[in-house]
Amino acid sequence: MKTTLSVIKADIGSIGGHVAPSQLLLATVKAYIAERAPRLLLDYSISHTGDDIAILMTHTRGEDDPQIHQLAWDAFRAGTDTARAQGLYGAGQDLLKDAFSGNVKGMGPAVAEMEFDERAAEPFLFFAADKTDPGAYNLPLYLAFIDPMNTPGLILSPKIAKGYRFIIMDVSYTEGDRIIELNAPEDLYDIAALLRDPERYVVESVWSRATGEQAVSVATSRLHNIAGKYTGKDDPVMLVRAQMNFPATGEILAPFAHGHFVGGGMRGSHQVPLMPVKLNSGISYFDGPPIVSCAGYCVRQGKLTEPVDNFAHPFWDTVRHRVAEKTMEMRRQGFFGTAMLPMSELEYTGIAEKLAALDTRFHVRVAQEALVKV
Ligand code: MG
Repeated sequence: MKTTLSVIKADIGSIGGHVAPSQLLLATVKAYIAERAPRLLLDYSISHTGDDIAILMTHTRGEDDPQIHQLAWDAFRAGTDTARAQGLYGAGQDLLKDAFSGNVKGMGPAVAEMEFDERAAEPFLFFAADKTDPGAYNLPLYLAFIDPMNTPGLILSPKIAKGYRFIIMDVSYTEGDRIIELNAPEDLYDIAALLRDPERYVVESVWSRATGEQAVSVATSRLHNIAGKYTGKDDPVMLVRAQMNFPATGEILAPFAHGHFVGGGMRGSHQVPLMPVKLNSGISYFDGPPIVSCAGYCVRQGKLTEPVDNFAHPFWDTVRHRVAEKTMEMRRQGFFGTAMLPMSELEYTGIAEKLAALDTRFHVRVAQEALVKV
């Protein structure tokens, strides 16, 4: 019997702006899932990161199961009714389509899933980010699964030393899933060449080359590609199996101490460092900074342990202070240059209309005009 982990998350409404869901909204989603769980699920856990609610589910129905996806979709619809009744901001924001069509992919919610034979011990990490896009995980995954400077297991453990297969998606392609498979370590420079552009190329999954087992699944949806305009940041979730044939939990967490710059923050339009935060944290400064939480679990025959909060340790307080300093340093630059995202991202915002209107007022100076000025 294989176990499937499915995490489906959406922003369906928030108190006081893009900050956090209300307790009543969370309770609505929990009650909806609790009532229907016995028919479909082995176990589940519901949490929030920033303004996003995530439903983590275990079951035996495999990936892309219509009933599992429908359950999450309907729970978010029920939550949206509560959000509207409470006057929450952005009620139903991530539910971009009206009719459910069998899979939440392409409809707004983010989804990451993995099906596997449980190991004797099955530790895994559930990451949830808010105010950023899926490319935010590119650098941490590169460092954890490829770089021996971060992951000594690549030197010390023979199975890990066989390397990992990366499946990378071109998320600018909207006709289907445009992917490439590359092997670490021999394709390292090719992987780096793609992952340096996190708005376009996103790690979708990582696989052990020693055993063929899946290590990582990342939600790759880009909301602006679905909606055709800016409707909020993608806020990706990620599942990572740890230990044994995979990097240790500490090797997977370590790259998040860099506080690397990611796309997101205010109006999803800025370059801001990613702050590792405690579970169920909200949003504050500059509709950010972009945050990531990490819940560690073990699972046995589909039954989840309680989560351990991997970024609650005092070590991460220093990281948070550094990220806050980096954030304010970049914010001093306001709209200028690299403080904002490139036009390829901003073209989904209102600035496109502004620039189009200004464009009609440009003219090419003619020689006569120059003479008159003299
Ligand atoms: Mg969000």
